[in-house]
Amino acid sequence: MTSIAEARQKLIDAGLVLEHQNHGDMTRGHVSIRVPGEPGLFFMKPHSIGFDEITEENILTFNIEGELVAGTARPHSERFIHSEIFRARPDVNAVIHTHPIHTTAFIATGRKMRALNQGGAIFSGHLPVFKDTIDLIRTKAMGAAVAQCLGQEHAVLMHSHGVAMAAETLEAAVVLCVMLEEAARIQLLAEPIGFDDFAFPADDVEKLRHNLTRVDQFEVNFNYLVRKAKRARGA
Ligand SMILES: [Zn+2]
Repeated sequence: MTSIAEARQKLIDAGLVLEHQNHGDMTRGHVSIRVPGEPGLFFMKPHSIGFDEITEENILTFNIEGELVAGTARPHSERFIHSEIFRARPDVNAVIHTHPIHTTAFIATGRKMRALNQGGAIFSGHLPVFKDTIDLIRTKAMGAAVAQCLGQEHAVLMHSHGVAMAAETLEAAVVLCVMLEEAARIQLLAEPIGFDDFAFPADDVEKLRHNLTRVDQFEVNFNYLVRKAKRARGA
């Protein structure tokens, strides 16, 4: 089981990876993890800093109502995406909201995601789109609407906005964000040229999806992405 110190360090490392993997839209993205042993509380990145500027000192703690219970930095107004997904999904321990360029462009095409690579195999048929508003998710009711659209999936696309990712572990949520962005990019590259009529059988795609979403796969790749991000920073 993850300790509180490990969870906080994981939040810092997740921020390094998300920034390095182009998920930081200046200071606008956010990431959270449930407090180990306290399912009604979560740690979250504060407002006004980049993903790569999360520190032990500026991490905020919220309750399931989205109320600040510890920390002094400015909270993200969109914290209700996190609190309401945590409320709706007891299986989820980490939530990420970002504005990735290719994913956001892909949403605008209105196309269904195809299984054109491994990320595509994970997300094809599993990508609900939230279209209630282009505005920020600043209330519990709006957060609940995003959580309802997410349903039991890992990701909900937010039209003309970005994505909310939810997973059992923070490692999974981060790696899934990276894989979704790559899958969107590949489909955007192929789409203007057109697709051939080849497709793998649905049960083949489902089998790959199942294998790729094993917890140990996410840990290995998350740890690699952390090392890679730290190397890029010269740390
Ligand atoms: Zn946003």
